[in-house]
Amino acid sequence: PSVAGLEALQHADVARMLPLPAAESDKYRRGVVGVVAGSARYPGAAVLAVAGALRGGAGAVRYVGPAADAVIARFPECLVSAGPPGKAGRVQAWVVGPGIGENADAVREVLATDVPVLVDADGLRLLDAGDLRGRAAPTLLTPHAGEAAALLGVAREEVEAARLTSVRELSARHGATVLLKGSTTLVAGPDGGTPVRANPMGTPWLATAGSGDVLSGLAGSLLAAGLDARDAGSAAAYLHGLAARLAAARGVPLTAYDVAATLPAAWHDVR
Ligand code: AMP
Ligand code: MG
Repeated sequence: PSVAGLEALQHADVARMLPLPAAESDKYRRGVVGVVAGSARYPGAAVLAVAGALRGGAGAVRYVGPAADAVIARFPECLVSAGPPGKAGRVQAWVVGPGIGENADAVREVLATDVPVLVDADGLRLLDAGDLRGRAAPTLLTPHAGEAAALLGVAREEVEAARLTSVRELSARHGATVLLKGSTTLVAGPDGGTPVRANPMGTPWLATAGSGDVLSGLAGSLLAAGLDARDAGSAAAYLHGLAARLAAARGVPLTAYDVAATLPAAWHDVR
């Protein structure tokens, strides 16, 4: 179903996108996702981005940053290194930004790699358009309306009033795939994006601290597993919304961690 350049995501579309392990799979072939998130001030952002990444279908998650102790305490299955990101081996896609504070060097370093990169949250604020333009591999930007407004140099209300135009404008300006978060999340491809995909699967219970960090880890994991940036963003938004609905059916209010913990049930439901 396509309305005026918008295509609503459906269960069957997402089912086709999800990466499944095959008989000959190993953890490297399933994809290694690198997560650069968190800081002394915001260690929780690292934990939540890793929680999302562990449920995205990559074979391994590698965390690089100052919140390694908090990450390991919660997720012993996560590989951690002290950084810098350039020294972390075998990473097939990077997530950079949630809770990183003012660490602009990490953003620049990750964007200088030749693998797909997802930029979210603080990473969007620290973004240098020049670092994006030279990239050979895909870039996925995941702003909410306020972050999109800052990137476009307009007021948040302008983005809210023209979400479709805004997501297209951002993707065209940066040559990146852009996922504009909100009650209906929009995903526009790197070419200016026709048609733009719309995610109908969500719940206002997602309006809770940290839920965006789970989404960025999840989408980055799908990138590492080999999905293109449009599919990774679309499938992540859909699974994230579905997980939230399934969790909300059992009880509310939701926390961001509840959403991450319900992602396996969302996968089960979609397949
Ligand atoms: P962030 O703003 O980075 O914390 O991300 C918030 C996440 O929750 C995004 O995935 C949004 O799409 C989602 N979200 C926030 N508010 C709503 C809402 N009212 N209805 C549905 N999803 C929402
Ligand atoms: Mg956020």
